[in-house]
Amino acid sequence: MTLKSPFMTPERAEFRANLERFFAAEVRPNVETWEAERHVPHDIHEKLGALGVFGFGVPEEYGGLGFDDPFLRCDYGEISSGCGASGFAAAVGGRVISVGPMVRFAPEAFKREVLPEIIAGRIGSALAITEPGGGSDVANLQTRAERRGNGWVLNGCKTFITGGVEADWFVVGARTGGPGLAGISLFLVPAEAPGFTRTSIGDKMGWHCSDQATLYFDDCELPAEALIGPENKGFLAIMGNFNYERLGMTAGCLGMMRLCFTSALDWARERRTFGKRLIDHQVIAHKFAEISARIDLTEAYLERICWTMAQGDMPVAEICKAKVQATKALEFVASEAMQIFGGAAYLRGNPVERVWREIKVMAIGGGSEEILRDLAVRQMGVLEG
Ligand SMILES: Cc1cc2nc3c(=O)[nH]c(=O)nc-3n(C[C@H](O)[C@H](O)[C@H](O)COP(=O)(O)OP(=O)(O)OC[C@H]3O[C@@H](n4cnc5c(N)ncnc54)[C@H](O)[C@@H]3O)c2cc1C
Repeated sequence: MTLKSPFMTPERAEFRANLERFFAAEVRPNVETWEAERHVPHDIHEKLGALGVFGFGVPEEYGGLGFDDPFLRCDYGEISSGCGASGFAAAVGGRVISVGPMVRFAPEAFKREVLPEIIAGRIGSALAITEPGGGSDVANLQTRAERRGNGWVLNGCKTFITGGVEADWFVVGARTGGPGLAGISLFLVPAEAPGFTRTSIGDKMGWHCSDQATLYFDDCELPAEALIGPENKGFLAIMGNFNYERLGMTAGCLGMMRLCFTSALDWARERRTFGKRLIDHQVIAHKFAEISARIDLTEAYLERICWTMAQGDMPVAEICKAKVQATKALEFVASEAMQIFGGAAYLRGNPVERVWREIKVMAIGGGSEEILRDLAVRQMGVLEG
């Protein structure tokens, strides 16, 4: 990219360069194999943990970085999803989306003993909100927690839970009160809790190297301190947590678009048709102008959002709009990149073919385009007056 950014500090450039080196040496050469094996080896989780990428917003005494930085979060999101298989980011990402509520609400003993293990990548954690009955309508979730004796009993089911097949700890949204958003609480559930079982959701369109699980809670017994955060106020915490997940996914789309740009450009410079390189056909060259404009726009939007967050504000509507903009841009970019590859784009193993299979999880997961547009207009107040 040629545009200069006032937000690219030397520290940030160094963080990106470090990450790029790690991904070039440890991830990119292996990601194809991990996709085929449906698994990312455990030592990679730990190596990433050592780079600090799970520790944003986590105090040092709990194993974290001791600071938060939305720019660095996005740099990690972009590079990890742009590595050739965005499922890699998901494979290690269950902990990324579940540590926020742990830091805010988990008991001190958990934060001192367990959280550092999660942040270091030695054990896994996952966020369990979606249920078979629906994921968009979080306020209507049905998993129920009831007080029994000194503790809680959990009954219900969660599905599509990223990292859930192997995770050691779960942050689970469950109903503790009446219907609607005012009756939801968060629970911290260990994988060995009595009454807890899980199965893989099975084969998927993409994100092959990451796992997603269905979780079953059948009279699952939990101690009193499993309730984290204020009772019946979990909905707000879930919504707050979504902001970071959506920010990371927007950055992920940026990384995937960059991958489309570079791999299609390499191809267009090499491939010859009608006596000249593909890139020398004006129609093809112009596609790169369109693709790079989408990339620049997404990057610029993200940086403004990050800057706003760094000032202490949470631009909820803009995060929603940016994620929708990014998934739509990704759809356009992947389509154009495939067009440039021609028939080669239709073969498994082509980097853009995989991106194509990963578009929809970005457009649906973490809040679908429809739901995010809806939240954006409500946050912007356009329905009032
Ligand atoms: C690979 C993968 C990983 C995931 N990881 C996790 C995870 O780690 N944790 C977790 O909790 N969840 C996870 N999810 C679930 C994800 O968040 C949900 O799929 C998503 O929120 C949508 O919910 P749903 O699939 O139940 O669709 P539904 O809620 O049933 O919606 C179906 C469709 O209808 C649209 N729709 C719904 N309501 C409205 C409305 N009012 N107006 C207009 N359109 C509407 C939606 O946008 C969607 O397009 C994952 C999903 C996938 C595919």
